[in-house]
Amino acid sequence: MTPLSAQEKEKILSYLESRLDPKVYDAWCRSLELETAGANSVRVPTANAFHRDWIEKLLRKPLEDAFLDVFGREVEVVFQVGDAQPVAPPPPAQSRPKTHATAAALKPEYTFSNFVEGPSNRMAYAASVAVSESPAGLYNPLLIHGGVGLGKTHLLQAICHAILARKPDASVHYLSCEAFVNAYISSLHRGNTEAFRSRYRNADVLVIDDIHFLSAKEGSQEEFFHTFNALHLAGRQIVLSSDQPAEAIPSLKEHLLSRFKSGFDAPLLPPTYEMRLAILQRKAAARGWDIPDDVLGHIASSVQTNIRELEGALTKVMGFASLSKRRPDLELANEVIQGTSPSRSRSVTISDVQQAVAKYFNKRVSELQSRRWTKSTSMARQVCIYLCHRLTGASLQELGANFGGRDHSTIIYAIRKVKAAVAGGGKLQSDIDNITRILGLH
Ligand code: ADP
Ligand code: MG
Repeated sequence: MTPLSAQEKEKILSYLESRLDPKVYDAWCRSLELETAGANSVRVPTANAFHRDWIEKLLRKPLEDAFLDVFGREVEVVFQVGDAQPVAPPPPAQSRPKTHATAAALKPEYTFSNFVEGPSNRMAYAASVAVSESPAGLYNPLLIHGGVGLGKTHLLQAICHAILARKPDASVHYLSCEAFVNAYISSLHRGNTEAFRSRYRNADVLVIDDIHFLSAKEGSQEEFFHTFNALHLAGRQIVLSSDQPAEAIPSLKEHLLSRFKSGFDAPLLPPTYEMRLAILQRKAAARGWDIPDDVLGHIASSVQTNIRELEGALTKVMGFASLSKRRPDLELANEVIQGTSPSRSRSVTISDVQQAVAKYFNKRVSELQSRRWTKSTSMARQVCIYLCHRLTGASLQELGANFGGRDHSTIIYAIRKVKAAVAGGGKLQSDIDNITRILGLH
């Protein structure tokens, strides 16, 4: 058994220093001893069983990575109770690494590299990458909002993966809002809310998925408010997702809303055709499926508003092909998709359009219908009237009745105004395209 040369050890230590939290590095690595034990094994002597367990938990993976990355050697690291001096006092309970629990809760495939970027998610994607590169920087809290199956959970978990890859011992907590609420309630029942609090309030990064679940849960909102403040004050990163913009979450207390709005929020919109095709191609390649491009194109143009359903349609086509021992061709794809999505031929109603427009412009449907005038509401209302006219086939009278009893000349005025604005160029056309896509009509 020979100690590593000073030079080799220096390389390993500087690798560890670049990956680990400085506190962990200072406490556990400065006096680390490393010995080679045969070609593929490295021995780490430790003072006693307690230290051995700690060091092993903290350093096994980083050390294995270090030998692989620095020397290209795949080694087994053996932690042994030997004659080493104690390297550090026992760490306080709160700095125990949560890495294992968090990593286990994450889906391994929800990474940035498996995420297809495009016009509908560019901002959310860029902000997520920025947060993972420098947590608690510019985007804090980061709130990603968007409809079902558009990639919220995928992005949130990708942030966790990326932070943990960089700093394996970071205390990263990912949990659904429902899990947060349940844990809070059970801590109330068991009378140990203190433990609950310190668990989340000591996180480096707290990621809560689907915070709209807090809607109308006052106690949990209050608890979350305090958790939020504690973390924010301590300069920790908070990442949230929601199925709609924060201000549209029903029954959310004003002070919590203002916290959610204090950072950066980015929407996830339904993907464009090109993105849908790219997602299908990637999925097929990952599973080793050989599918003609026209079939993928057909699926991409049939399933438009939910990426989970898009992937589901692909799986169904392949499942059906294999069951019926047929090739996955256009004909087969047609049979499968027609059989499963009757919603394609469904026509759009005034209420569908009102809801989509309200969501898009962060308004309430009642604001669109009301007669109240503010500049932004009035613009959203006019776009809404224009789209209802174009998409639903409703008469001017019907439209008037659905927008606070306006007469038909007001309806005509709104439609003309939007037409003129679109003809004059500017941002409105892309808003209209986005809303049509949200409605699944693009
Ligand atoms: P949400 O949480 O918004 O309901 P998910 O994150 O669960 O949606 O995404 C649903 C499915 O779609 C997942 O399998 C996810 O991997 C996939 N997905 C979503 N967006 C993308 C994307 N941009 N690129 C690749 N896959 C995506
Ligand atoms: Mg989700």
